[in-house]
Amino acid sequence: MTLTLHVDGERWRAHLRGTAELYDGIIPVIKGNGYGFGNRALARRADWLGTDTVAVGTYAELVDVLPRFGGDIHVMTPWRPFWADTVRTERMYDPRVVHTVSRVEDLDLLRTEAPEGTRIVVEGETSMARHGVDRHALTSVADNLGRLRLIGFSIHLPLSEDNLAEADSWAAAFEASKLAPAVSGTPVFTVSHLTDREVRTLAERRPGLVVRPRVGTALWLGDRGAFRVTGLVIDSHVVERGERIGYRQRPMPVGGTVLIVSGGTSHGIGLEAPTSASTMKQRATSVAKGGLGAAGLALSPFTVAGKQRWFVEPPHMQASMILVPAGVAVPAVGEEVEVDVRMTTTTFDAVDAP
Ligand SMILES: *Cc1c(COP(=O)(O)O)cnc(C)c1O
Repeated sequence: MTLTLHVDGERWRAHLRGTAELYDGIIPVIKGNGYGFGNRALARRADWLGTDTVAVGTYAELVDVLPRFGGDIHVMTPWRPFWADTVRTERMYDPRVVHTVSRVEDLDLLRTEAPEGTRIVVEGETSMARHGVDRHALTSVADNLGRLRLIGFSIHLPLSEDNLAEADSWAAAFEASKLAPAVSGTPVFTVSHLTDREVRTLAERRPGLVVRPRVGTALWLGDRGAFRVTGLVIDSHVVERGERIGYRQRPMPVGGTVLIVSGGTSHGIGLEAPTSASTMKQRATSVAKGGLGAAGLALSPFTVAGKQRWFVEPPHMQASMILVPAGVAVPAVGEEVEVDVRMTTTTFDAVDAP
């Protein structure tokens, strides 16, 4: 078992620094599997970067981030009455935590449960329709703040090309609402999925707001060449055409060598996230990859001798069986082969980050 993420530390750190300079007021996003690196590693990295705030996905993620990052931590999943059952309240209401409020009806209980002065941002509902208050409800949010300390607003935007208009329209709605005067200090406006240029434009248009971009993917994964993933060859067998092998005892469509390589379903290998291919053409291309696909095999993410190779059968829990056709140079047991994985859905056995 060694599916390894190799990080070129110097190159990665240079990219992180460059991205932090490009996005003024950046709030690094730390969530899920830590974009492949792990949330603890990212919390330490954000501390090293020197940002004053990070954002986490859920309250449960505070456990890994609070001890490793010294600044404020914005929880992006909105506060709900039932989260208190899942996290210890001293963590949930740590003074460094900033909460997201997205429903008027949550304010009653939050006001009584949270210590005086607990900081919140109010999220507006965008075209995402994920979380957020409707703009008509902003007045009633303002009327129900009580002893909570409102520091600003947040919105979450789709992965569209042009998000500036929607961001600006929400900025205007917040500034014009009864909420704006309720903010202590200059209101923060935290946004996702704007380009660095759009962030600058928005900040120029809205001098009354401190615009802060929440960035995950473009920060941690923006320089694909700064890391690579390998699986270890742990066994190798010569097979003949027609020979039945594997759990499913399928006959081999061609002869060659079967490699047993670290990396299986428990790592997220071969478990594709639902496709984002949005056009018929994209879908057709993925079906028409051809080759041994016609024999019922699936293309694996493992590369041997410069080419992506076929799975002999669906990946096992911790290893995969890969077919290297006769005539292709076979890597030795103990050698590493390259794997192309989706970083947000993969769990690595080891992270090699000098
Ligand atoms: C995940 C997330 C982000 C960061 O998204 P990336 O595409 O990784 O930059 C920002 N805001 C919210 C609310 C999120 O859930």
